[in-house]
Amino acid sequence: MNQDIPIRYVNPVFRPPSEAQSLILPVTNGCSWNRCTYCEMYTTPQKKFGVRDEQEVLDSIRNCAQQFGDEVQRVFLGDGDAMVLSTRRLLTVLTKIKEQLPKVRRISSYCLPRNLRSKSVPELLELREAGLTMAYVGAESGDDEVLRRVSKGESFESTRDALDKLGAAGITRSVMLLNGLGGRLLSRQHAENSARLVNLTQPEFLATLVVSFPQGEERFREGYPEWEPLDQQALFLEMAQFLQALELRRTVFRSDHASNWLILKGVLGAEKGRLLNEVRSAIGSPGSVRLRADWQRGL
Ligand code: SF4
Repeated sequence: MNQDIPIRYVNPVFRPPSEAQSLILPVTNGCSWNRCTYCEMYTTPQKKFGVRDEQEVLDSIRNCAQQFGDEVQRVFLGDGDAMVLSTRRLLTVLTKIKEQLPKVRRISSYCLPRNLRSKSVPELLELREAGLTMAYVGAESGDDEVLRRVSKGESFESTRDALDKLGAAGITRSVMLLNGLGGRLLSRQHAENSARLVNLTQPEFLATLVVSFPQGEERFREGYPEWEPLDQQALFLEMAQFLQALELRRTVFRSDHASNWLILKGVLGAEKGRLLNEVRSAIGSPGSVRLRADWQRGL
């Protein structure tokens, strides 16, 4: 698609790496929670949370249809918090996409667990039938202590509940966890409770990133002053503990974001042994595995 997309974007715009080919359609601006102390995505003034005017969204869809016609096959609803919209409003947007962009095969969005508190499984089923087939859930950790210290505003149970509801509605779940988020103090319980969360919910996709602070750690340390970063070996150890505790039936696992030193990809549980061996090799003899150099880690 060319650069003249007939949509008003408020920069910076974020999307999951796997949505690189998607039309990004903002239905909100920023994130309604916006308090996670490790997150810098929506901290600039222009990203203050707001719901985009419905007519503007519908006009954007119509204009894209006129300009791109059948070229659009995937749509990602932005920004950080599309699922905060009411079911009615989401259905209006999804219906318009289906009507105007008939080649669209997948519509997805980020989803905060709190967005689903007032949405029932039958409502989510309606959304899926209207085209919303995938949700990216930044769980970050399954450990309540870690979640509290980073002001996630969620718990093991609230995240589990949201993932279960999405699963019951047949919406594909892509879960993200943050390696190193618990620091040295809470590393083991972060790994073990995160594994417990995904074991109980069995998401279809799972990704791990390494926590990083391109704009500095100050805000994060205010909420968690004892936090000490994990060095490379401690990150590998946390990953090994996490993988060891996983009991997944069929989850596509990716730990290949630019923040990771060690790139891991596979299907769990079938490839658990191989993945664990790769991490253990990185722990035992780092020279024997291919790691990203520091300069290759785009943070
Ligand atoms: S909920 Fe997500 S987008 Fe919002 S502040 Fe937390 S990590 Fe950032």
